[in-house]
Amino acid sequence: MHIIHIDMDAFFASVEQRDNPELRGKPVAVGGKPEHRGVVAAASYEARKFGVRSAMPMATAIKLCPGLIVAPANHKKYREVSSSVMDIFHYYTPLVEPLSLDEAFLDVAGSERLFGSPVEIGAEIQRRIKNELQLSASVGIGPNKFIAKLASGYKKPGGFTVIPQEKVLDFLSPLPVEKMWGIGDKTAESLKRMGIKTIGQLRALPLKLLEEKFGKHGKLMCDFARGEDPRPVEPQREVKSMGKEVTFAGDVANLEELRQTLRELAEKVARRLRRENLKSGSVTLKIKYPDLRLITRTENLPEPTNLAGVIYRTASRLLDKHCKPPVRLIGITCGKLTGERYIALFRDEKLVNEEKITLALDKLRDRYGEDVVKVASLLKKRYK
Ligand SMILES: [Mg+2]
Repeated sequence: MHIIHIDMDAFFASVEQRDNPELRGKPVAVGGKPEHRGVVAAASYEARKFGVRSAMPMATAIKLCPGLIVAPANHKKYREVSSSVMDIFHYYTPLVEPLSLDEAFLDVAGSERLFGSPVEIGAEIQRRIKNELQLSASVGIGPNKFIAKLASGYKKPGGFTVIPQEKVLDFLSPLPVEKMWGIGDKTAESLKRMGIKTIGQLRALPLKLLEEKFGKHGKLMCDFARGEDPRPVEPQREVKSMGKEVTFAGDVANLEELRQTLRELAEKVARRLRRENLKSGSVTLKIKYPDLRLITRTENLPEPTNLAGVIYRTASRLLDKHCKPPVRLIGITCGKLTGERYIALFRDEKLVNEEKITLALDKLRDRYGEDVVKVASLLKKRYK
């Protein structure tokens, strides 16, 4: 029992309440204004009582909770507070795996001699977050990631739940199947049709049946239902940027051809970002001229993205502004990478559509290979 999961309570909203005393004890939703089709990024516990939830349109939230105070989000501040929280975690172990700005797994197996038992470490971290940052966190401790995460969510806010190995099955049995990692609405629905509502009931099913019904996911479900989870805590790799470039066989002066190349590079970088669950906050265009002079020009994005269209348009703008062909090499680098589940505060209808299409195409690519779909502009080029 050496895995700790720590989850900040109503993180963005709590930071706002901490810094604006007039918001304390009140229903607060951090996010975009309703008249701009804003979305709730975080809701205080006072607002949650009214049913206000993250990712809900702000207009709906206000209908549910008429006295709701809408606070604009300050992501820069949240990132700073987050890094103070992560610093506290790193004091106790190098094995910290952040899941987002406000939660992380810690493996403290090697920390006992220095800092005490996992329970002592968890309690000290919770205390330090309260004392040093005036914020509340919920702590879950268990033999593996799956159990630790369930434990931290068991009682919120301010929870402290310890599930030792011998209690795992008793803890899991009465929980609804939806609580289990990887069980979405659809799977829960088909389980319910089989009469399975709790994890305990699920555990009683033979593995063979689960595999028949759910394919390779069935094995995972079976493991989780038994409270087993072999996944190690993986400290975040330091990926700071991600890029692609091409060196042309001969120097290229044709702007249209350069744009075409940027489009292809943007597709590749964006696809890699999506695979690694990352978003990029800046786009850099890299140009090498025939005399080997190298220039880079960067533009920050209004919100992090992993969409090829956004990356391409930004790079293309930089090309128009700064590039004097002919060029020998051209490249795109995406920087300011974040792994957080970023919730847009304003919905740009066009981007929402682009995202939907992109996700659908990714599914096709996963199944049939990278070449199965090419954006129209690439096709046009190839077959003209
Ligand atoms: Mg949280």
